[in-house]
Amino acid sequence: MNRPIYMDYHATTPVDPRVLDAMLPYFREHFGNAASRTHPYGWEAESAVDEARGRIARAIGGSAKEIVLTSGATESNNLAIKGVLEFHRERGNHVITCVTEHRAVLDPCRALEKKGLARVTWLPVDGYGRVDPEAVVAAISPDTVLITVMAANNEIGTLQPIGAIARIAKAKGVLFHSDATQAVGKVPIDAEALGLDLLSFSAHKMYGPKGIGALWVRSRGPRVRLAPQIEGGGHERGLRSGTLNVPGAVGFGRACELARSLLDEESGRLRRLRDRLWEGIAQRVDQVAANGHPLERLPGNLNVSFACVEADSLLMALDRDVALSSGSACTSATLEPSHVLRAIGLRDDLAHGSVRFGLGRQTTEDEVDRVIERVAAEVSRLRALSPFYRPAAGSTVAVGDGA
Ligand code: PMP
Repeated sequence: MNRPIYMDYHATTPVDPRVLDAMLPYFREHFGNAASRTHPYGWEAESAVDEARGRIARAIGGSAKEIVLTSGATESNNLAIKGVLEFHRERGNHVITCVTEHRAVLDPCRALEKKGLARVTWLPVDGYGRVDPEAVVAAISPDTVLITVMAANNEIGTLQPIGAIARIAKAKGVLFHSDATQAVGKVPIDAEALGLDLLSFSAHKMYGPKGIGALWVRSRGPRVRLAPQIEGGGHERGLRSGTLNVPGAVGFGRACELARSLLDEESGRLRRLRDRLWEGIAQRVDQVAANGHPLERLPGNLNVSFACVEADSLLMALDRDVALSSGSACTSATLEPSHVLRAIGLRDDLAHGSVRFGLGRQTTEDEVDRVIERVAAEVSRLRALSPFYRPAAGSTVAVGDGA
């Protein structure tokens, strides 16, 4: 049986064969515990992790000792947000974040708010999904301890102005964390040059294994302090206890190294394929709009609203041919449209008719062309069944119009 074309690279990515090759010896002969100090098994594991840590740090412009290895970006975000609030309790409890964050940021903020441990300001976004840095300035108060705004949105691909927000945070003496899970390896990110304080990212979004990620924590200028959320053997300089996932760390390191060397070529290729996909769909299907920012966006992301189409029906019709995800991320019980699409001002019916295309390392031009054909055919079949659909000439909405 033919497998569907994979276009859900925001959800996860396959492990690159070069990454797997680097990992395998650390399951077999080099299986030691990196914390074992008394024999070569431990030493080998420790030196492999040290090397990986350097590679992981270089991918985001940090240094090896600033990397705290975690189980993934969800844990990194929890550590950053809860850890900073707990450590700086005497200074205040105000957090500033944004309504289009991933749930791995929204939920820890909500949980702290519910427990009375934080006061949270939820910043709105414009029609492209961008936070206004001036709104960040206006939200800061004397008890603000943390700003957390993502680098790239996982649904609509919009890049946030994190450099501008970092400058504001620095000027006001507030710590700035960014969830860069979708951005690292896709667009250049230099945490040190941007002036960030904390940055979360994850291996499985960049052709590394699942179950490992990192939190970068600034070590100087000044050093960022936070309280551990998992305590035990004092690993990761006391910030995250637990026996290290050595093969995972090695794979993450190799994935970071590859991402750094391939970034320019890969982002250009994905941008061209993404544009080809959008142009192909817009030529064949009327009443479509591309969501997110037209320029400040991830190269491999395209989020499209199809008028008079239920995204879930479209995905179901395509599921043998194309693996996609709905931009609306409906919870079937409530049929709530995506919080991101709602935040950019999309009407509920369009939010329910939105699909996220995620292109990646294995995507080919031929796949893009086949997806265009299949999507166009299924949209027109579904519209023929819709009582609301009226063909209209010249109604394609340009990328980023957000209509
Ligand atoms: N943040 C963003 C923006 C994401 O896209 C994801 C993954 N969907 C996460 C956090 C969570 O990452 P992980 O799966 O590594 O916990």
